[in-house]
Amino acid sequence: MKIYILGAGSIGSLFGALLSKIGEDVTLIGREEHVEAINNSGLKVVGVEEFTVYPKAVTKIPSELPDLVILATKSYSTAYALECAKESIGENTWVLSIQNGLGNEDEALKYTKNVLGGITTNGAALERWGVVRWVGKGVTIIGNYPRGKGKFAERVVALFKKAGLEAEISENIVGWKWAKAIVNSAINPIGAIIEVKNGYILENDHLLALAMEVVKEGCQVAIQKGIEFEVHPMELLLETLERTRDNYNSMLQDMKKGKRTEIDFINAKIIEYGEEIGLKTPLNFALWSLVKAKESQTK
Ligand code: NAP
Repeated sequence: MKIYILGAGSIGSLFGALLSKIGEDVTLIGREEHVEAINNSGLKVVGVEEFTVYPKAVTKIPSELPDLVILATKSYSTAYALECAKESIGENTWVLSIQNGLGNEDEALKYTKNVLGGITTNGAALERWGVVRWVGKGVTIIGNYPRGKGKFAERVVALFKKAGLEAEISENIVGWKWAKAIVNSAINPIGAIIEVKNGYILENDHLLALAMEVVKEGCQVAIQKGIEFEVHPMELLLETLERTRDNYNSMLQDMKKGKRTEIDFINAKIIEYGEEIGLKTPLNFALWSLVKAKESQTK
C-alpha cells in the first residue's frame, strides 16, 4: 500500500516506521530537521521495539496519489496540512486520522468522502530528530467515519496487525472518538493546571470528583448530539487514569515545552457542540479558560 504519513512527529513516525518495516511504501511528511535526519541515518525506533528503517521522508507532499494518508499532526495543524495535501487526495485515496480531539475527520471530509476515524492508545515521543521512542503499547481502533465498516478499513486493520500493532475495526468510530475526547477533556486540563501525574487525579478526591463531573458534562452534549458509546466514558476515565497513572499527560508536556496545547479541539469543541444544541458547559468553559490563560503565560 502506498502510504503518506502527514505530520510525521511522535505517533506518525512510530506508525510510519512499523509500516515501513513490513515493506509498505511509506513516505513521511514532516519538518526539515526530522526529514534530514531520516534521510541521513534512517528512522530509528527505541523502547518497546528497537529497529531502524529507511522510509522516504520529505517536507513537501509529493504529487503522486497514495492509497492512504495517515493524518498525524496535532489537531490545530490539521486544516492547513490537509489544504497543502489536497492535490494528493485522489478519488481512491483514503484519509485516516489517528489524532486526539474532535473535528479532524470532519475537516478531511471537506476533501474526500473516503475518511476513516481512528483512536490509538499507543504512546510515542520524538527522542531526537530521526529517533522515536515507542513508550507504551496500546490498541488502535479504526472505522469508516462517522460510522460503518468497509473493505478498506479491514485492509488497514490487517496491515496494522501485520506491522505489530494491536488493531480493531469499529462500526461506531465516532462514538470512540467522542469517548476518548471526553476523557481527555477531564484528565488533560486538570493534570496540566495542577501539574500532576494522572495517578494523582485518581488518588485525590477533589480532582477525581471534578474529573467525573467534567465527563458527565461531555456525555450530556454527546448524547444530545446522538452519539452512542461503545464504552461508557466514565468507565474509560477510570481505566485510563489507572493505566496511565505514572504519566504526565500530553497537555502538560506541551505546556512545559512552551508549545500550543490541543485544548481548542477537546474542551472547546465540547463547548461549541454544546452551544449548537443550546446546552451550557460551564466546567469545560472553566477548564478551557484556565488552560488558555496558562498557555499564554508559558509563551
Ligand atoms: P507531534 O509530535 O507534535 O507530531 C506532529 C508533527 O507534525 C510535528 O512534527 C509537526 O511539526 C508536524 N507537522 C504539522 N503540520 C505539518 C505539515 N503541514 N507538514 C509537515 N509536518 C507537519 O504530535 P504527536 O504527539 O505525534 O501527536 C499527533 C496527534 O496524535 C495529536 O492529535 C495527539 O493528541 C495524537 N496522539 C498522540 C499520541 C502520542 O503518544 N504521541 C498518542 C495518541 C494520539 P511542528 O511541531 O513544527 O508543527
